[in-house]
Amino acid sequence: MKKNNNPWERSLVELKSSSDKISLNDMLLTLLKSHDRILEVSLPLKMDDGKIKVFRGFRIQHNNILGPYKGGIRYHEQVNLDEMKALSFWMTMKNALIDVPFGGGKGGIEVDPKTLSEGELERLTRAFTRKIKDVIGPHKDVPAPDVNTNPKIMAWVASEYAKQNGKDGIAVVTGKPVDKGGSEGRKEATGMGGMYALIASLKKLRFNKKNPTVAVQGFGNVGRYIASFLQRNGFKIVAVSDSKGGIYIPDGISDIENLEKYKEAKGFLAGCYCVGSVCDISNREKRGGKDITPAELLTLPVDILIPAALESVITKINAGKIQAKIVFEMANGPTTIEADEILEKKGITVIPDILSNSGGVAVSYFEWFQNLNNKKWTKDEVFKKLKQKMEKAVDRVFETSKKFKTTLREASYILALKKIESVWENKKD
Ligand code: GLU
Repeated sequence: MKKNNNPWERSLVELKSSSDKISLNDMLLTLLKSHDRILEVSLPLKMDDGKIKVFRGFRIQHNNILGPYKGGIRYHEQVNLDEMKALSFWMTMKNALIDVPFGGGKGGIEVDPKTLSEGELERLTRAFTRKIKDVIGPHKDVPAPDVNTNPKIMAWVASEYAKQNGKDGIAVVTGKPVDKGGSEGRKEATGMGGMYALIASLKKLRFNKKNPTVAVQGFGNVGRYIASFLQRNGFKIVAVSDSKGGIYIPDGISDIENLEKYKEAKGFLAGCYCVGSVCDISNREKRGGKDITPAELLTLPVDILIPAALESVITKINAGKIQAKIVFEMANGPTTIEADEILEKKGITVIPDILSNSGGVAVSYFEWFQNLNNKKWTKDEVFKKLKQKMEKAVDRVFETSKKFKTTLREASYILALKKIESVWENKKD
């Protein structure tokens, strides 16, 4: 693996360059270069056919200076230690930047959940929860959804935790279903927060074009919501893709909600060209559409490119071909360091992941707070608070980038590091 394509090596480079700019305390820098706890567990699972399969799981706790470790659990066949190390570090930075009282953590299982039955998925989740039950807890470490996990899976985590520890586990995990203690608006929060942050950023950039064109890579809980919210707010979504393929309609995709229904029914997006409510490959020519791969989506002639799937998709190989004026990172870590440099030279503005996608964890914090304080906020209240948080973060990042003459990514890191340093200084004595 090349150095910069390893997400953890990349995080260390990002940490070094931003901490240099503010002469971060050496001891703190050393702390942030390592992880407080790395837990790897083995998960034997009895499959529906009676055979036993063993899966590998992780819970990585990067740092808890600001509060309990916090971050998602992902189910993906590419889950590995270095990826988890980077993702938990990015959570530390993200939580500090968006100003929630959490440190950073991340977990995952190396599995393609689409190959499991519902029963297998539940048994695997419960087995994983049993193996990590001693290191998680409402005031220790609070997991949440991430790639390929959802409210139902979070409810299994909460229920198994409660069963094992003999106490109410409601605040041990966020992103639960609303009828099981979840917050209104959590499901849509990453997408909604992304929309608030993008609109605020466009104002700062004085990007006034009407109906800007957008391509979104990824159609999971993040991609589908941001695409649909942006469409409702006048953006022209011209391309979307999931892991199996995508569609490109230069005139604009007519209705993201139709796409959601199609994907729900078929399991993929490819071929979903809609005329009215009929979505079919036979409409492709009529709509002037083109089938594309997820990689092709990245280099389309659009105003705004939104990677909303996995990390390291924009690399030195394709960065030179990117035509978008703005890359708005909704995935964690989609851009490698070499790609970042190429984009900067081309004058493409990158709005970094720890800012753009922090709406998810912001509403996770609201959920945790409501659980602990026995409150229930309406969706309107949640989105109002979310909007304020996102706009404030955007303001501060743009201001810092001006002050330090840095990229928005470095400015975001600088703000996060300064916040951690101030709390750490006070705690030390
Ligand atoms: N998985 C999400 C992220 O990467 C949300 C984490 C959380 O809510 O704790 O930000």
